[in-house]
Amino acid sequence: MYKIKPNILLIYTGGTIGMVRDPETGSLRVFDFKNLLDKIPELQQLECHVKTFSFKEPIDSSNMNPNYWVQIADIIESHYSTFDGFVVLHGSDTMSYTSSALSFMLENLAKPVIFTGSQLPIGDLRTDAKENLITAVELASLHTDGKPVITEVCLYFEYKLYRANRTTKINAENFEAFASSNYPELAESGVHLKINYQYLLKAPVNLPLKVHKTLDTNIALIKLFPGITETFLKTILNTPHIKGVILETFGAGNCMTERWFIDLLKEAILKGIYIINITQCIAGSVNMGQYETSSQLKEIGVISGRDMTTESAICKLMHILSEGISYKEFKTKYEMSLHGELS
Ligand code: ASP
Repeated sequence: MYKIKPNILLIYTGGTIGMVRDPETGSLRVFDFKNLLDKIPELQQLECHVKTFSFKEPIDSSNMNPNYWVQIADIIESHYSTFDGFVVLHGSDTMSYTSSALSFMLENLAKPVIFTGSQLPIGDLRTDAKENLITAVELASLHTDGKPVITEVCLYFEYKLYRANRTTKINAENFEAFASSNYPELAESGVHLKINYQYLLKAPVNLPLKVHKTLDTNIALIKLFPGITETFLKTILNTPHIKGVILETFGAGNCMTERWFIDLLKEAILKGIYIINITQCIAGSVNMGQYETSSQLKEIGVISGRDMTTESAICKLMHILSEGISYKEFKTKYEMSLHGELS
């Protein structure tokens, strides 16, 4: 048993969860986060001490970008020794991106970092905010023999705890807004909290937290579609300073076999641009070479993103690109699991 109550830092970045509806205009506005305990007195009943830290100017998560990711990483780093767990309140729209990015930025993480948010503001009668927030804090507080149970970046939403870098927002209206199609839930909240211990990442052995704060945004995301033109692809691949491209292909990593298409990719790879193949399917994996329509990609040096989500593939690309390593090292690193992001 943990003798002293764990200290949890609640970091508020913005999003619907921290908003209240103006009774006169009906529009949503950010409320003073210092008064959070007034809105959710239940937090005081939990077996932990909760402190809050709010962005000076909370944002809608559509305005999130890598500078804010670094800000969140900074807050975690500077409070790492004094807190036992972190809950990040974030808008749901880009929560999978931010939490995936943080999973790559926080190396040797030995404490829980749990992202959550809500579809309805905290003050609304039918809000999902309370359950999401209370259970996220509860999960961040879990300890066995004085050690945290969760030692990775997670996302908690609508009774399920997911590995963050496996998630995607799949629904703009339902309370069940996220899916993790290629990896099972880490925990489920019902009458009891059911932790799926076998799926959790193991804590690093006595290694200090290392925070990576450089991200290279000279990248592009191209979703293939039947009828994609040579001009369009050529324009993207010739974007000044571009270093990496995530190619969302069909099915198990397939694309058109037309000569112009393969030639453009080949030319880009020869110029030093990394091309990553991920599937636009919601579940399953890229398997280059399974069909003729993907064998050529493998031959010209396209890198396999296997079963990574688009969100994870993008953040991993920004993260590894900033290391400026050789093509061979890049390919090896990109194709292996760094933080449980691929199977
Ligand atoms: N637009 C909001 C945001 O992502 C939606 C939400 O909070 O769920 O910040």
